[in-house]
Amino acid sequence: MDKNNITYVSLWESAYEKLKGLLPGHALNTWFEPLVPVAITNDELVLEAPNQFSYEWIDSHYKSNLKEAIGVVSNNSITYRFIVSANGQKKQIEESNVFVKTKKQPLPPPVNLNKSYMFESFIQGSNNEFAKSASESVSDSPGKNSFNPLIIYGGVGLGKTHLLHSIGNKIHQNNPNSKIVIVTSEKFTLDFVNSLRKNRTIEFAQQYRNADVLLIDDIQFFRGKEQTQEQFFHTFNVLQQSGKQIVMTADKYPGEMKGLQERLLSRFESGLSVDIQPPNFEIRIAILLEKAEQNGMVLDYNVIEFIARHIKKNVRDLEGAIIRILAKSSLLNKEIDFQLVKEVIRERIGSSFSPELSIEDVVKKVSEICNISETEIVGKSRKMEVAEARQLGMYLSRNILGTSLANIGVYFGGRDHSTVIHAVKTIDEKILKIEKIRKQVDIIKQELDFSLI
Ligand code: ADP
Ligand code: MG
Repeated sequence: MDKNNITYVSLWESAYEKLKGLLPGHALNTWFEPLVPVAITNDELVLEAPNQFSYEWIDSHYKSNLKEAIGVVSNNSITYRFIVSANGQKKQIEESNVFVKTKKQPLPPPVNLNKSYMFESFIQGSNNEFAKSASESVSDSPGKNSFNPLIIYGGVGLGKTHLLHSIGNKIHQNNPNSKIVIVTSEKFTLDFVNSLRKNRTIEFAQQYRNADVLLIDDIQFFRGKEQTQEQFFHTFNVLQQSGKQIVMTADKYPGEMKGLQERLLSRFESGLSVDIQPPNFEIRIAILLEKAEQNGMVLDYNVIEFIARHIKKNVRDLEGAIIRILAKSSLLNKEIDFQLVKEVIRERIGSSFSPELSIEDVVKKVSEICNISETEIVGKSRKMEVAEARQLGMYLSRNILGTSLANIGVYFGGRDHSTVIHAVKTIDEKILKIEKIRKQVDIIKQELDFSLI
């Protein structure tokens, strides 16, 4: 036994002697005799309790006596902390036991941790950067900053689960000894209910309370489940008090969640809540480019922009669109063209996709913004400003509606498809070079967008 070893064993022996003078014999035998000192770390005497219940009992009935006893024998230099025995039984203090406790084997990552949800694959934008940096910060020093608990909240499909798993993956990478427990609130509830059924609530509590990091997804599903919330409340307290990191996700700002106990919500306030907003247009484009690349697809920029214009609410839908386009093109053995993309988008957004929006609407809008009559736009005039408005009309019909080159040609005064290609290319180039054109395109798109979805 090394010196340190003797110190904590003898410290506990002295404290135990002290407790004899403070407590009746039965209390001592029932509650303190089974405790095993296992280490002194960070000026805390670590005591192993045989089970959760005994620890909770001591904590609620004899806390001050224990504190006093340890304080007296250590000149108030040491406090104490409990751990719960892993096998629920008292253990002998042996060299091997001490060895196991100090030299932990690396743990495998939890099986339900999704390895593909990493920070590296999470696209950052103004809608989620705060949530991402808070998550990274927690991963680098779990339990050691004031972001405890960290709560990531926001609507469906915005990347909450992705971030939660990224935290788990990063912590595991940084420290494979760290005990990470990651579950959905449904799984937590189910585990709890099963443990009640099988009379194994102690094991249930232990499984969660032994975690170094607890990651719980979608806590809104605790709504109305009083007994589960009770359990969660205790788990939460035990972990938070011992400096263990807790991260949760929710569909709403915690303060606005109905059906969750007040005391639980007020505990959450001690940490940090960060939101994720729906992605804006540019971020949707970035996500689509990334997802297309991940799937080995090369998509025309116009197609990407078309999807980003129509699918706005969440990232899951953007991803879904890409997958469906890919599936459809390979199953039907078809090229990925506008037609196919339009079909997929229409299927995905259903009736909210406005089939009414036509070339006519585009021309009307172009006419309004460029101050050129509709007849002129679809007519034969070669005047520069008219020709430019016509090219804008062709470009936007292609870009927003995905109308075929041939149909656009027919509508704009019976021109052939190469004229349309030329128009699209010209406007593409002008957008890069000429501020006025870029603004016109933006305004028209924005205004038409209102009528789109
Ligand atoms: P939530 O949990 O908020 O409902 P998810 O985390 O399940 O959303 O995200 C839905 C899908 O979108 C997942 O496949 C996820 O990888 C992807 N996703 C969400 N946000 C991003 C992002 N910022 N970058 C890359 N992929 C994302
Ligand atoms: Mg989720």
